[in-house]
Amino acid sequence: MQMSESLDDLYRDVILDHYRRPRNQGLLPNPDLKSEGFNPFCGDQVVLTMTLDGAERIGEVGFEGEGCSISQASASMLAAHLGGRTLDEADALVRVFKGVMQGEELAPEQEEALGEIAALQGVREFPIRVKCALLGWTTLQDAIADYRKR
Ligand code: ZN
Repeated sequence: MQMSESLDDLYRDVILDHYRRPRNQGLLPNPDLKSEGFNPFCGDQVVLTMTLDGAERIGEVGFEGEGCSISQASASMLAAHLGGRTLDEADALVRVFKGVMQGEELAPEQEEALGEIAALQGVREFPIRVKCALLGWTTLQDAIADYRKR
């Protein structure tokens, strides 16, 4: 089966590692930002919580979720990379990642900035899974938008 060979490439070690041992797992008790995301195409769910350390800088990050390995690994990678970033920086990161998922090629410095997240580029070859990979990121965008509306 050719499909499963390609999937082997897709589920690269870094993705499986995040799926099996999600980082930043568990919701924070008193978050400054919180949002829930759902991907009806696959049944994936992500709840993301964050605290702020003044000046719109992200402090603690915690998430919980259920769903396929791509959705949960992507949320774990995102959560692990958010601490210490400002909300503007987090927003910019989401835009870069969405661009990647829509087929934009990364400049070397962007690839370096994404670090292990760049492993998710392979998901583009499976359009149905792109929504899975984006779930945590759109949830983050919603959380930031909600916070700014207050
Ligand atoms: Zn999924």
